[in-house]
Amino acid sequence: MKGFSGKSIHEGEEPDETLHGDVVSPIHLSSTFSKKNMKDVEKGFVYSRSGNPTRRALEKKLAALEGAEHGYAFSSGMAVETTVLLSLLESGDHIIASDDLYSGTRRLFVKVMERFDLKFDFVDLSKDENISFLKDTKMIWLESPTNPLMKVLDIENIADEAHEKDTLVVMDNTFATPYFQRPLELKADVVVHSLTKYISGHSDVVGGAVMVNDETLHQKLMFHQNALGTVLSPFDSYLVMRGIKTLKPRMNIHEKNAKILGEYLEEHRLVDAVYYPGLPSHPQHDLASRQMSGYGGMLSFELSGTSEKAVKFVEALEVFALGESLGGVESLIEVPAVMTHSNMSREERERIGIRDNLIRVSAGIEEIEELIEDMERGFAALDDGRSDVWPVKS
Ligand SMILES: *Cc1c(COP(=O)(O)O)cnc(C)c1O
Repeated sequence: MKGFSGKSIHEGEEPDETLHGDVVSPIHLSSTFSKKNMKDVEKGFVYSRSGNPTRRALEKKLAALEGAEHGYAFSSGMAVETTVLLSLLESGDHIIASDDLYSGTRRLFVKVMERFDLKFDFVDLSKDENISFLKDTKMIWLESPTNPLMKVLDIENIADEAHEKDTLVVMDNTFATPYFQRPLELKADVVVHSLTKYISGHSDVVGGAVMVNDETLHQKLMFHQNALGTVLSPFDSYLVMRGIKTLKPRMNIHEKNAKILGEYLEEHRLVDAVYYPGLPSHPQHDLASRQMSGYGGMLSFELSGTSEKAVKFVEALEVFALGESLGGVESLIEVPAVMTHSNMSREERERIGIRDNLIRVSAGIEEIEELIEDMERGFAALDDGRSDVWPVKS
């Protein structure tokens, strides 16, 4: 039986032994596939929008890792989300979404899909008392851990409640990856991913994926992937496959680094709060330990003081790249209030708890000593000569 890395490396890779014996699937660029005559049986592919051998290989790999029957690869995370909504909903439908959401997802929901009469409510689903659904809710859209506050939602509990009312459960598993969390096993119906992040892992490709077990959902998604044309290109499919092979070792290092950074920041007197599910101080630490097999590489923290301080801190860093996105081998840092979440109003951010002094970190796989040293550089830049502020360790 193949383990996680065995599947990451071998699933979907079926080199054509009649050719050269490649150990890696070739990139099939052909947009169309011929047959000898009208009676010739199809070899499974007709036109690359509806199906391409390289994309198919990736889709098999993705489904295997997520423990799903079916998987589909798309041109971006947003292309998947668009396709999922247009495949599974009708105008007039009501959707509940986690309040602390990837900001592009929120923008798609509010600025695009509401124009087609889909109705969204954003709710803090980390609180048990909020897990009750309107009677006609068609879909619930989850992220866990959430972005950027790293709240953890009880996926199975939410799915049980939702299924009682025939509500479909969609889970964006980008932050955890299938290595640390498998939502279909926790009764989610649909799993979506931005492949751009950990799964490809090298910040050199944009892509998305959806995985399902249910046959009806599979048919609808397959039809709409082709009808909407939101597919991933063969070359990008190849890049994602190449990245996936090291998902497990990368995730292990991302996590180790994130945990040490979290512990370091928690001890720091210039830090007011640290949000990382792997820390015992995290409010849903026990839940995270139950439903995930690891806590991931993302964390956030609040620096004492204003957003100017947060900006000064991140600008002083030399190893952490100041940038949006996450999940690449290189460490990234950003200030959500002025970067990833700046398209939300201040009131909305405050209601959710995203403060101006919040800093989000995507821990890369560099040596941890180098990352801590860089953080020390950031804190040093804040030192305004107050002796109670520096040195940092108590
Ligand atoms: C990046 C991201 C997306 C969107 O994916 P793209 O590949 O950028 O289109 C969706 N959800 C989460 C959690 C993300 O981090």
